[in-house]
Amino acid sequence: MADIRVMRDDLLPPKEPPRRHLISIGDVTEDDVSRLLGTARSFERSLEREVKKLPTLRGRTIVNLFYESSTRTSSSFELAAKRLSADTMSIKSSGSAVDKGESLKDTALTLGAYDPDVIVIRHPHIGAPELVARVTGAHIVNAGDGKRQHPTQALLDLYTIQAEFGRIEGLHVAIVGDVLHSRVARSNIQALALMGARVTLVGPPTLIPRGIEAMGCDTTADIDAIKAADVVYILRMQNERMQEGANYVPSLREYTARWGVTPARLRPGQKIMHPGPMNRGVEIDPTVADDQDALIVTQVRAGLVVRMAVLYDLLTHGPVLVESMTRTPLGVA
Ligand code: ASP
Repeated sequence: MADIRVMRDDLLPPKEPPRRHLISIGDVTEDDVSRLLGTARSFERSLEREVKKLPTLRGRTIVNLFYESSTRTSSSFELAAKRLSADTMSIKSSGSAVDKGESLKDTALTLGAYDPDVIVIRHPHIGAPELVARVTGAHIVNAGDGKRQHPTQALLDLYTIQAEFGRIEGLHVAIVGDVLHSRVARSNIQALALMGARVTLVGPPTLIPRGIEAMGCDTTADIDAIKAADVVYILRMQNERMQEGANYVPSLREYTARWGVTPARLRPGQKIMHPGPMNRGVEIDPTVADDQDALIVTQVRAGLVVRMAVLYDLLTHGPVLVESMTRTPLGVA
């Protein structure tokens, strides 16, 4: 019989796996995206049940820390955590000690003292998620940092597109409007390119960053270019991120006249997406927003299951067990 040799390290307890974060689409692979979308699909099936709560993250704590206004992202992260039975806490900068001048670092240290498993953070400054990752022991999810990244938005958009077309690869997506100030555009260009879709950015040259083609997209100022796309993805004019005094377009009225998405500028059957909040009558005609080809509400629904998948994936280090989930009776917390 062969000798069994015990190495010194074998006697040590297994090392803590490294903390995982979701900060940028630039950090994920095609496999990561496929796994997350697959997990989200299994959660979608679980939500068809009358009792929608899963016991999966019972005993975990998830903190939502929002320094900017949000309807969709904050509500869906909160509901996602609740649907997975985690304990959840939502802190908004207004009404918290941030109003009293507390720095992000001190707020993060304070919340970190409760040992949360995940901190979901939205902040107007690029790099805020990394700071929170440095000073706490939590897994960090970037829910939007300045104009840099909004990775869960890109994932939910991929999920919506895949559910609608059955694929992402080979599709053509036109992203229209204020790309310059849009973290949604940056995350989506990367995510769509990663999954093999073609992206064309359409808008006033002042709102299309110079050199952005290097991210793997085409650019044009010609609004008629949207007719060639399978999906027309419309962005809001993000006035709150515009430099004071800068005139990117002569007026909103002029913008709407030249780049607003109207029924006349579309081809029948083209799918319409918008991350919200919409400014009806500015970047999107109300008829387009309410058309049956608009996937805007579908995107919101996708946001819930995709965020459930992200929280699950970060905390369990792997794909959801679809089989066991559909077979095991679901515990209700
Ligand atoms: N809700 C998206 C974001 O947080 C898009 C927008 O605000 O226009 O970036």
